[in-house]
Amino acid sequence: MKICLDMDSVLADIAPVECQIIEEITGKRIGKIHIKDWDVLEYFGIDKKISYLKFWEEVWNRWTDIHPEEEYIGGKVGELMVLGQVDVVTASKGYTSEENRKKWLAKYHIPYSQFMATPYGEDKLSLDYNIWIDDSPHNAEAAIRANKSLLLYTQPWNVHVMEEGKVKRIFSLSDARRLLLENNK
Ligand SMILES: [Mg+2]
Repeated sequence: MKICLDMDSVLADIAPVECQIIEEITGKRIGKIHIKDWDVLEYFGIDKKISYLKFWEEVWNRWTDIHPEEEYIGGKVGELMVLGQVDVVTASKGYTSEENRKKWLAKYHIPYSQFMATPYGEDKLSLDYNIWIDDSPHNAEAAIRANKSLLLYTQPWNVHVMEEGKVKRIFSLSDARRLLLENNK
């Protein structure tokens, strides 16, 4: 089994840092729960002020402020690695954030088979994997259309996506492990 594990908002809880940056731009105080849309810059009306590239770069410049989504995250990813190859796949190719992401993974002792930095905007579902673990509603919808197996990591910006076909909702990486074990039987 080859697992494509997303990094932002699955391993790394970047939303509080996103909120901080949005607050600095807009002067409005917001929390993670207010991010109800994946297209966060449009949602807060700042897409003309900052590009996604700059935004993610700024988020990961502040990597020491980023906490894991879950406690014992390294152990939970380790348990997934017992089931197969686990690649951390993230759109950061060629940007300084790539190095900061690796430092962050090391800080929290998160194991992985390969770290894959893909170009921004690349379609993750076209990569050669059996299972995707991701929080993106766009990837979930694409997986439904392509009949691919995706475990949708629940976040405020994806609660509207309904489970369908091989797309299942999870609330933790332990959920992912349980579902993958059931599928393997
Ligand atoms: Mg993500």
